[in-house]
Amino acid sequence: LVSRKKKQEDTVIQLGETAIGGGQPVMIAGPCSVESYEQVRQVAAALKEAGITVMRGGAFKPRTSPYDFQGLGIEGLKILKEVASEFGLKTISEIVDPAHVELACEYIDVIQIGARNMQNFELLKAAGDVKTPILLKRGLAATIDEFVHAAEYIVSRGNTQVMLIERGIRTYEKATRNTLDISAVPILKQETHLPVLVDVTHSTGRKDILAPCAKAGLAAGADGIMVEVHPNPATALSDAAQQLNIPEFQEFLATVKQSGLL
Ligand code: PEP
Ligand code: MN
Repeated sequence: LVSRKKKQEDTVIQLGETAIGGGQPVMIAGPCSVESYEQVRQVAAALKEAGITVMRGGAFKPRTSPYDFQGLGIEGLKILKEVASEFGLKTISEIVDPAHVELACEYIDVIQIGARNMQNFELLKAAGDVKTPILLKRGLAATIDEFVHAAEYIVSRGNTQVMLIERGIRTYEKATRNTLDISAVPILKQETHLPVLVDVTHSTGRKDILAPCAKAGLAAGADGIMVEVHPNPATALSDAAQQLNIPEFQEFLATVKQSGLL
């Protein structure tokens, strides 16, 4: 069902005034984790000022270590909803438990399925049973074919509102956190009709190359870029090393816009 052979026209995900897919690319930004009302509010105000309409923020955090911050859970989704309605933003947040999918639809506009859960088939099925758009991340070691099949799980249950996001894959290379697979973008655009985005933060894991990687993603045909922004990254409860602070985000956005690709 996700194949271009089945449907030629691009799938477009409408989030209020913002359309993702087949047109003007979008910038999605926000903190790695929702940490507090005030933290999300500071980011939201900066995004609003920069003309960004879609904010991300993790409430359920799949962390490598069980001793690391695990997220605020439903409380985090409530914070996102409250702040988003104040600033007129749309929200994206990761859900990790199939039992939370329906409830999440009341608080957020897009449900993210994280890299670690790309082949959590019960979660994919639950995501397929709602109407809320889904942002599906590529698994850490997933082939493009496995990624496309994961999307098919969702669409085959009836939810056609699926976006794909390349977030880097594990290779032998240590210079970046993961290896951004730029070639996945044109391949996914050719082979599926779904919007394709690039997560520059989790793929590279380094602030100094976010802008060139975002430009590369857009030049390769991506429908959007995702980047993490935090009011004070040094104190962030997750991904402290690679989140941009607000002035850095403004500069990043200006650089990407200068390319004429966004
Ligand atoms: C995230 O986007 O918050 C995240 C955890 O990313 P990934 O699933 O790609 O590691
Ligand atoms: Mn993160």
